[in-house]
Amino acid sequence: MSATEATDPKVLLGHHLKKLKLPTVLAEYEKQARQCAEQGIDYPRYLLRLAELELIERQRKMVERRIRAAKFPATKSLDSFDFKALPALSKLLVLELARSEFIIRRENIIALGPSGTGKTHLAIGLGLAACQKGMTVGFVTAASLVNQLAEARDEKRLIRLQTSLAKLQLLIIDELGYVPLSQTGAELLFEVISGRYERGATIVTSNLAFEDWTSVFGSERLTGALLDRLTHHVHILEMNGDSYRLKQSKARKQSS
Ligand code: ADP
Ligand code: MG
Repeated sequence: MSATEATDPKVLLGHHLKKLKLPTVLAEYEKQARQCAEQGIDYPRYLLRLAELELIERQRKMVERRIRAAKFPATKSLDSFDFKALPALSKLLVLELARSEFIIRRENIIALGPSGTGKTHLAIGLGLAACQKGMTVGFVTAASLVNQLAEARDEKRLIRLQTSLAKLQLLIIDELGYVPLSQTGAELLFEVISGRYERGATIVTSNLAFEDWTSVFGSERLTGALLDRLTHHVHILEMNGDSYRLKQSKARKQSS
């Protein structure tokens, strides 16, 4: 008798399935075997079920990983976005963008509008939709990105950070314009955007109209070069409206 026959097959099977990294098959094979026997389902279909369950679970875990890695500041989805609050914003365009094809085409999105109009909410919603399709996404505010880049440069790991930013299929840079950048800060941010040009998709949100971007970047030449790259393949979302926060707190006060 061989060693394989002498040992409890379940023990060995468990061992092999772990080694093959098939945890869902391991967790499910007995239950599914019972069900398939009851329902008269044949062996190929039994195996197919197990393979499908493993794939579904793998996909779910991958999406979870993508969402965690993106570092979204909050959980917001487009399902909870009230398009009626922004009549000038095309819902059709936003829903089309949520199909994430602009990411495959390496196009950009710029969302412009005053504070509280849902720019961050929308950007997270589009980022989440991309994660759900298995894409790699990163979310960062402009100020934090510049800090991270400066820190990486001081610690001589700037190239590593730049490479990892360039690799993301979608990078979301939120809140450009709230804080003016130092000259090196502006240059570092420019390098990121320029490094992603036609290589990856970028979403930028800003409270400033394009003509005021020079005040953030300091130099007209740099702003021009940046806008040139960013707007070559771009969808602009004009989010001009009243602050949703303000409207909600007013509505709350009126109803109380
Ligand atoms: P911004 O980034 O433009 O300053 P946010 O996206 O942070 O605005 O929105 C402020 C708050 O209001 C968030 O809690 C957001 O979820 C909510 N909000 C804004 N606009 C909408 C909207 N159209 N539908 C639903 N919630 C919204
Ligand atoms: Mg915001």
